[in-house]
Amino acid sequence: MNNFKGDIMSLPTEIINEQHDRLKQWVSRILRKDRLAHAYLFVGRSGSGKKELALYMTQALFCPSATAQTEFTPCRHCVECKRIEHGNHPDIHWLAPDGSSLKIEQIRELQREFSYRGVETQKKVYIIEHIDRMTTQAANSLLKFLEEPYSGTLALLLTEQKQRLLPTIISRCQELKFPPPSPKQLIHRLHETYPLPLASCAAHITADLEKASHLCEAEWFAEIRSLMIQLLQEETGFSLHQGFALIQDRWLPLTKERDQLDISLELLLLWYQDLLYSKVGLEDQFVYIDQTERLKKRAMYLSKEKIAEGIEHILGAKKRLHAHVNPQLLLEQLLIRLQEG
Ligand SMILES: [Zn+2]
Repeated sequence: MNNFKGDIMSLPTEIINEQHDRLKQWVSRILRKDRLAHAYLFVGRSGSGKKELALYMTQALFCPSATAQTEFTPCRHCVECKRIEHGNHPDIHWLAPDGSSLKIEQIRELQREFSYRGVETQKKVYIIEHIDRMTTQAANSLLKFLEEPYSGTLALLLTEQKQRLLPTIISRCQELKFPPPSPKQLIHRLHETYPLPLASCAAHITADLEKASHLCEAEWFAEIRSLMIQLLQEETGFSLHQGFALIQDRWLPLTKERDQLDISLELLLLWYQDLLYSKVGLEDQFVYIDQTERLKKRAMYLSKEKIAEGIEHILGAKKRLHAHVNPQLLLEQLLIRLQEG
């Protein structure tokens, strides 16, 4: 699993931060114009950078180097910036669900903190993650807090599920939408914890960091990925006899849920996409980053048209999966079609 040769690990940070530059410029702009609202709602998927921007924005407020001359860019290494990064700044309160929900006691505690003036400055910031997981009581309590803000306080409320929020909370915040993370950004984040080959596949299946992490952790996901590699031989593709046996003995037992079966087809699709990349000289785009040689060899035996047909067949199978066709029949028919090309 670790014999990959890919160089995604050394992705330049500009690529990682590309999408967030726009958001950082937005921070500079509102600070320059002195138009800071008292509450912002950050809406975006897991991994889209909401926490990172909350951290950045808070640093921009407290860092002595963040002035008009520096476009309000925090230095990120002074005492203030470091204390914020390490979560021990007395004027910044970071709240996350306690267990599965955000409870009223947590909001009350926050209100107590805020009833005093800023300890060191006149500014105080509170950041609440997963604001959609508030109990009704907590939400009502927060609402009162938002209605009567103390001057100099800033609320940054983070959510992945805006539709679950009380409209009265949404209407009291300025909303900021975060674009979903790109596969490269996701791979970079996932690879801090998981092997690169798994991270690469998971990041191309979902644009959600939490979901992609779950895939990387799941044993069946790693096994079904290996199965795809085993199934698709370099020279012959696969034999139907062997393919049918693998469906019966491994593929179906590993993908008992329809979601899992769908993801397995997605993995097959990514393999064919890699074959197509190989045909057009885009090997650096490979998703199966540890299978470069195998993919290149296999691509030599196939025409572009044949690979494109394969992709059509897999997409067709994915569609039929949602029409509740028998899974074994579906996979066997797919292998026959792929074999015929
Ligand atoms: Zn600083």
